[in-house]
This record gives sequence, structure tokens and C-alpha cells, in this order.
Amino acid sequence: MRSIVWFRGKDLRLGDHAPLSRALAGDEVIPLFVVDPYFFAPQRAQLFAHRVQFLLESLAELARSIEALGSRLVLVAGKSVEVMPELASRWRVDRVLCQSWVAPIGRERDRRVTDALGARFQLFDTETLLPPGTLRTTAQRPFSVFTPFARAFARAADIAPALPAPERLPPLPPDVSRDLALFERLLTRAPSLAELGIVHNPALQPGGEPRARERLQRFLTSNGPSYHRERDRMDLPGTSRLSADLKFGTLSIRELWHAAEQLPKDARAAFMNELVWREFTHHTLWDHPELLSQPFRPKFEGFPWRHDEASWQAWVEGKTGYPLVDASARQLLDEGYVHNRARMISASFLTKHLLIDYRRGEAHYMRYLTDGDWAQNNAGWQWSAGAGCDAQPYFRIFNPVTQGQKLDPSGDYVRRWVPELSVVPARHIHSPWQAPAAVLEAAGVQLGVNYPFPIVEHAAARARFLDSAKRHFNAAPPRWSG
Ligand code: FAD
Repeated sequence: MRSIVWFRGKDLRLGDHAPLSRALAGDEVIPLFVVDPYFFAPQRAQLFAHRVQFLLESLAELARSIEALGSRLVLVAGKSVEVMPELASRWRVDRVLCQSWVAPIGRERDRRVTDALGARFQLFDTETLLPPGTLRTTAQRPFSVFTPFARAFARAADIAPALPAPERLPPLPPDVSRDLALFERLLTRAPSLAELGIVHNPALQPGGEPRARERLQRFLTSNGPSYHRERDRMDLPGTSRLSADLKFGTLSIRELWHAAEQLPKDARAAFMNELVWREFTHHTLWDHPELLSQPFRPKFEGFPWRHDEASWQAWVEGKTGYPLVDASARQLLDEGYVHNRARMISASFLTKHLLIDYRRGEAHYMRYLTDGDWAQNNAGWQWSAGAGCDAQPYFRIFNPVTQGQKLDPSGDYVRRWVPELSVVPARHIHSPWQAPAAVLEAAGVQLGVNYPFPIVEHAAARARFLDSAKRHFNAAPPRWSG
């Protein structure tokens, strides 16, 4: 039996790769990646340069690993929906195997490939721990609250062990090997960053399965055991930093789930709870693909968001005058990553203090996050704005100063990303405008000159949001109780 194993950017690994393991039960295997212009046309790729960098590094590692085991990763240029049927018939393959995607764009692609290939196209629901759509309330509805979802997950989840990586792979069939030189659609290598017009960012995490395994080991042996105590601390390396690996599948969620079983009890429970949040966001997007354009809570339709370019620009550049918010904005642009708590505070600030549409922040994050994921990012933004599934109540508004004092008590997170404040003492670093003039002078800070005054006052911004929200909700039809 001849199989194509179609690697698709969310499964860039050999360990625990269900489609590959299934293909190896037959005799001929063609590992393949499509360089689709939807993602790789330079003007598209430049829109998510950080993820393209991580993806290309991961793809190169995958190609090396496949070659080391005796085969070759075939790279083909073209639109997936056209290329796959063409190759399946040219090489007379019996089946095309791959991991399904939760995101609507991937589902639409898979629908079209299924139309063309029929039963020969086989999808594996391994982006999540359980296939999306399988957990239901007693009324057979999708869950809209996390806690009952997590309970149902715990009842249902007997997660099968991860599959081992293959020890060797069969060589490419001779006709396919011949095509590598003859068929103009096949590429000798993936495009380079330079060819895509992207400048390499050395501050990003390096991509690839071996790097993912190193990160996993580091987490399990160093900060993992204290995860439950330190995960919210922005000044400490308290989390796994595995989000991009889960996004690109350089580590399978199933392997991570089982690896987490090694953590001590409290850390294990806290960490697995976050993995179940990941599961919840993916299952929710599966049931509600419309969430990528509209709020989960209908009452948020037509919300009176403000158009305020100056405030937007200050938030994007990290010049709001709130050090924690500014640190998170600059970390995003520099490292393509933001600590979870800083994402929550920053998203709350944009939507509530500045009253700017969460969808604008969501798109900005999708542009720069290396782990940018449709399900998790949308859920994070809708949650922060109060518009989402099991969102925090709209009237809960983070105070960036007290959050900083509590969860960045040393001020080191701010110091790292806002060097203008690097020698301000911890006591004043989260609210420099309240520091005595002598302290600011000693730290070389001139407010309004080398670091801004706050662009809004916390209490006034809070009152403005609550007032706008109440007026909007009272005017809207009574469909919502949150
Ligand atoms: P850890 O704390 O080590 O968690 C382990 C894994 O659990 C993460 O890698 C992630 O896959 C999952 N996870 C953790 N927290 C959450 C959560 N709150 N919701 C869903 N899954 C979670 N995560 C993304 O992976 N991609 C995104 O695009 C994304 N956008 C976000 C936007 C906003 C506004 C917010 C508030 C959160 C967002 N998150 C997103 C969730 C979370 O911030 C990141 O998953 C986390 O910071 C990644 O760091 P880590 O791997 O060290 O996390």
C-alpha cells in the first residue's frame, strides 16, 4: 500500500505522529509538505514573520530527521487543494494521511480535499487530546463554561500513550524519487527567510522537535515542580514556554500530557488545568467557527468601541505610561512572546481602559506571536474583553499597577523591557508618576520626556468603560444574563 503522509505545519515532528505510524503499517510512504502560497507568498509570510521563522526552522529539522531515517521530505509548491489530488493520481497513492486542523481555514481546505479524494483522504484528530465535538452537556450542547467542560474531560479522558518515533523509514518509491528532478512542482528546498523578505529575529525561540524536547526536559526538571506557585509571576521563568511547540506540533499535546504526569501533585494539577484550557478553546472554536469574527456573547455586538489612533499607537509601541502594559507590548514585538498574565493585563487595558475593539488587539497579537493560534488567541482576547465563552465578567478590570506590584514584585519584568525605568526602585517601578521627584531624578527618568505620563487615569478609564458597557447592555435586547 502506498501512502502520502502530509505534514501540515501543526505536526512538525516524528514522535507521536499518528498519520505516519499508520502509513508505516503499509509498505510505501511519501512524507510531503506543501509550500502553499496562502502562507508562503512573500507578502503573506511577512504578515506573520515570527511564525514563519519558527516554522521554517522546524521544517528543516523535520527534513533532516526524515533523511537520517532513510527517506526524504518531498516539498511541493502550489495550492494544497489543487496539489494533493494531482499528486495522489500522478503517484497512484492509496491514501493521503494527515492531522486535522481545528481552525476554520483548515477545515475548509480539508472539505475540499475530501471532495477530491473521497475515502482515500484520512484525517487524524490529534491537534487536541480528545477529538473536538465529542464532549457534550447532558442536553447534548457544546460546553460554554470551563469547569463543567473540565469535569466532562476528566470523565472522558483516558489518553492513549504517545506513539514512539519510527527507527527508520522506507526510501521514497523510485517513481517519486525520479520526479524530484523532473516534476516542476517539486522543490529542492523550502524558501529561505530572505527569499520571503523576512529578516531573521535572533530573539525568537528556535524551532524544531529536538529544541522542543530540550524545552520540555528543562521544564520538567527546573521550573515545572514550582509551576503552581510561580506561573503567574512575570519576573520569573515560571512556565513551560512550550506554546509554540504545541502550535506547530514540534511536540504533541499527548506527549506533553503524559510527560506532565511526572510533575509533583500540585504542579501537575495546575499545569494540566492549563492544557485543558487549551483543549477548551479548541473545542469551542470547532463548535463556533464564527467566533473568529464575532463575540461569543451577543450583547457585545455593536459595542461602542472607540477609534483612537493615538492611544492605539501608544499601546502597540509600549508607550502608555503604564510600565507593565508597556513591557508586554515591547516583549511581543521583540520576542514574539508575552507572559500569560501580561497578555491578560495588556488585553484588558486595551479593551477596557482604552475602549478599543478586542479584535484589533487580537489581530495585532496574531501578527507577532510565535505561538499565535486562532483558538487560543481568540479565546484569550474575548475572555479579556468580557465578550467570550466563560469570560471574566465585564466589570472586572485589572489595575495594571497593583497587578505589577503583586506579580512582578521585583520589577524585573518591567526593567527588562522598559530600560528607561531600569534603575527605578521596585517600590515605584509600576507607578513612576507617583514616585518622589528625587527618586525619578536619581533614576534618570523625566516623565513626559524619556518616559510618558499615563495616557489615561485608571479610575477615570474604569468608570468610562463601565458606563459605556452598562448603557450599551441596557439598550440591547434582553438575551444575555452575564
Ligand atoms: P504554560 O503556562 O507553560 O502552559 C502550558 C500550555 O498550556 C501553553 O503552552 C498553552 O498551550 C496552554 N495554555 C496555557 N494557558 C492557557 C490559556 N489561558 N488558554 C489556553 N491555553 C493555555 N496561547 C497560545 O498558545 N497562543 C495564543 O495565540 C494565545 N493568545 C493569547 C492571547 C491572550 C489575550 C491571552 C490572555 C492568552 C493567550 N494565550 C495564547 C494563552 C497563554 O497566554 C499562552 O498559552 C501561554 O502564555 C504560553 O506560555 P507557556 O507555554 O509558557 O504556558
